[in-house]
Amino acid sequence: MDTKHRPVEALSTEARLQAILRATKAGTWEWNPDSGEVLVNDQWWHMLGYYGRSGGAISFHEWERLCHPDDLKLAHHELAEHLARRSPDYNVTLRMEHAQGHWCWIHSRGMRIPESELLSKDIWVMGTHQDISHQMGLKHKLEKLADSVPGVVYTFTSSPEKPCRFTYISPTSEQFLGVAPADAIENPENVVKVVHPGDQDRVRRAVVDGVQALKSWQCDYRICLRGQSRWMRAMACPEVENSEAVAWHGMVVDIDDQKQLERELEHLSVTDELTGLYNRRYFMQRLDEALAESTRYQTPYALLSLDVDRFKVINDTLGHLAGDAALRLLAQVLGRRARRTDLVARVGGEEFVLLMPQTGLQDAEALAEQVRQLVEQTPFELQDGQRIRLTLSGGVVSWQGAVADTSKILGLCDRLLYRAKSQGRNQVLVARI
Ligand code: GH3
Ligand code: MG
Ligand code: MG
Repeated sequence: MDTKHRPVEALSTEARLQAILRATKAGTWEWNPDSGEVLVNDQWWHMLGYYGRSGGAISFHEWERLCHPDDLKLAHHELAEHLARRSPDYNVTLRMEHAQGHWCWIHSRGMRIPESELLSKDIWVMGTHQDISHQMGLKHKLEKLADSVPGVVYTFTSSPEKPCRFTYISPTSEQFLGVAPADAIENPENVVKVVHPGDQDRVRRAVVDGVQALKSWQCDYRICLRGQSRWMRAMACPEVENSEAVAWHGMVVDIDDQKQLERELEHLSVTDELTGLYNRRYFMQRLDEALAESTRYQTPYALLSLDVDRFKVINDTLGHLAGDAALRLLAQVLGRRARRTDLVARVGGEEFVLLMPQTGLQDAEALAEQVRQLVEQTPFELQDGQRIRLTLSGGVVSWQGAVADTSKILGLCDRLLYRAKSQGRNQVLVARI
């Protein structure tokens, strides 16, 4: 069988052209700029809802009257450019009035007929109309949707050959990133530039890794916008377009409030409510880490455990609120005595600990003794002016190198404390593991 393409000999060129125009529903126009004459076909009218009208001549003025005034200027300009041979063709999208009063989006394309093909000296520009109202409607909906999203919507295209780039970014990028869409599209580095300097390399790496992994992608980072730093989250899903390009459809949202909340929750989860010191949970976590560190690096560590003597009496005589106030004041004293690297926590009702890295038994004992004496000598002044005196009993345990588990340290501390209490209180006992 002859598979070669050949003309449908049975039909005239005219008939074939008409068949194609019918199938593509294209309106046609032919314009003589000198005479102002315009010839259109039936479909040109039908497209605008004038089903009763058939093709033929119309005036240039009638065409102008049907065009949206805001788009007419562009159409005039493009026609003039083409006639002056400054553009290879005429190609505009403009609105034209439908018979029922609404606007249709028309894609109008045309070209001047070369003189060699014309019998007279007349100039003719000929072209087609396509109704693209449906596509423009979708575009409009997408724009509205992008506008209503509390963030930036984008398509980022990656390909092995060309540099990665934004192929679409919503107008909201101006508001959320401080970058105009045109600048983002021109060069993605314009978006990276607003990323916090401390996060830029991480973001670049994440993009490179994401492009390789070809899986849904997410990256949190800070941006510097109008003198403020804010946390943002970028997300995207890949769509393989062809062997050369992958389109990443995604969005960037502001997660600063969420990050702030996370930080607050994190802070709350490790903080003792009454004193603002660390809580028992956090202390236990850090003690575990300290053990791992001393096992691995032979770091000397010391733990001081303190318990207020006869604290029940304070509560019983002055009331629970006065007891609370005393605990807060005591926490301040401990906080002030500790070094920056020490961890101070309230681990029970009137029990406190100081975890001290890089500290041997002697130094820890000296510090414990200082604290004990300071508390013994300092009267605590409560809000109502009442002064109370407190004393502490303590146990200090130091170790260096491998220790089996935390209970060994905590158990020894407890035993020292118990002994300090039974030997008369207001004293600190020490032991090395
Ligand atoms: P010692 O340790 O010297 O043996 O005597 P103590 O009276 O301090 O010991 P005990 O463990 O019997 O009592 C501790 C008291 O601490 C019990 C409770 O009244 C008080 N306490 C525990 N937690 C709090 C708290 O959060 N606020 C107040 N105000 N008191 C607390
Ligand atoms: Mg106690
Ligand atoms: Mg006590």
